[in-house]
Amino acid sequence: MKFYSINRRSPSVDLREAVMNGLAPDGGLYMPEQIPRIPKAFFNNISSMTLRDIAFVVTDMILGKDIPSAVIRQIVYDTFSFDIPLVGLSPDVFSLELFHGPTKAFKDIGARFLARVISHYSSRSPSRKVKVLVATSGDSGAAVAAGFHGVPGVETYILYPSGGLSRSQVARLCLPGSSVKPIEVLGTFDDCQRLVKQAFVDRSLRDNFGITSANSINICRLLPQMVYFFYAYAMLSAREEMSGKHLDSPVVFSIPSGNLGNLTAGLLARRMGLPVDRFVVANNSNDVTARFVTTGEFTPRRAERTVATAMDVGNPSNISRVIDLLEKDHETPEACMRGYSLTDSEIEEVIRSVYTDSGVILDPHSATALGALRRDLREGEKGIFLSTAHPSKFPKVIERITGVRLEPDNLPPAPHRSAPHPRISVSYDALRRLISV
Ligand SMILES: *Cc1c(COP(=O)(O)O)cnc(C)c1O
Repeated sequence: MKFYSINRRSPSVDLREAVMNGLAPDGGLYMPEQIPRIPKAFFNNISSMTLRDIAFVVTDMILGKDIPSAVIRQIVYDTFSFDIPLVGLSPDVFSLELFHGPTKAFKDIGARFLARVISHYSSRSPSRKVKVLVATSGDSGAAVAAGFHGVPGVETYILYPSGGLSRSQVARLCLPGSSVKPIEVLGTFDDCQRLVKQAFVDRSLRDNFGITSANSINICRLLPQMVYFFYAYAMLSAREEMSGKHLDSPVVFSIPSGNLGNLTAGLLARRMGLPVDRFVVANNSNDVTARFVTTGEFTPRRAERTVATAMDVGNPSNISRVIDLLEKDHETPEACMRGYSLTDSEIEEVIRSVYTDSGVILDPHSATALGALRRDLREGEKGIFLSTAHPSKFPKVIERITGVRLEPDNLPPAPHRSAPHPRISVSYDALRRLISV
């Protein structure tokens, strides 16, 4: 499979190059040239397939020409090593719990998959060490650290701004004996990103090592996220069959949206043939995508801080992928999407009411998705919203709204003290010295 740059000023590349480049030389994001259609028969027995079986079929259709099928099978086996339950809140509304991985958020899935694909390519040229660089301003670093921990043949450097992370966030980057190495930078997140970019264009570094990034725009973080849309559909079908029925209601997915990785993955799944009636794009008060869906106009804006912080995004990095997919299909946004935005107090009201009605505690991001779904879902339809993080990641908010103190053992283990790790000034030479070993 070839992958093209959305800006179309760089040549198309194979999977290996798309993964290793991250971003095309012309600054565009990569997309697969063909989106294969899954045969209709696949959906006849999807309800009896396991998560790993579905993951293999879906990813093999896109990556199968580039990676041997046996390797893909192992990669999805290792990536999808935890359950993704579908929890019914009412006969028509379901929560797809994507937070049962090591760092309790859906970003685990993309990070684990990408780590294993990079490791596969690194094992094919063992004489050339692969270095993964990533800048983080918060939780995505933990997902990358956990995803790359113990993956052979890859050394990972996570740059974070001094003072920019909480102590437990730093501790989660420090996995003992790991090939994942945190680096504290005496600067801002932007400084960290600039240093990473400098490493990418450093020819003499690239002569000695394979240099790549694990940031969220990498196509191999996106592709495994298609899997859970199919799996959710499978579980919904299985439920219907258990009560002697056949799933024939329209299915609506509601997606708590920030940088639009999940929305892009959902649109790809639909293009592959998944019967989705429409997607609900759920924003907090940073509503640029909801507006785009409603008006067809995209106007980036400065992000403001909300209670659902991972969606405080004013210029979503995957918007060009969404627009590209729509243009290719000659579809307008309103043909397959609806957009809603919720204020902080509306998000909190959803958390409160779900807890009161059903005893389920949702994190603020998942609650945003449910709130939008409730506005959109019509009689006779089935709605699934993505639950993207475990509520125990937001203990203060949850306690303030519900009065419930979530057990700390719901959190991933954080050592009391971070292992010692290097601290550098905002100097490319200092970074270079650390990584050229
Ligand atoms: C990253 C994140 C989102 C936003 O997902 P995108 O794919 O970037 O739109 C939503 N919820 C949580 C908990 C997140 O960490």
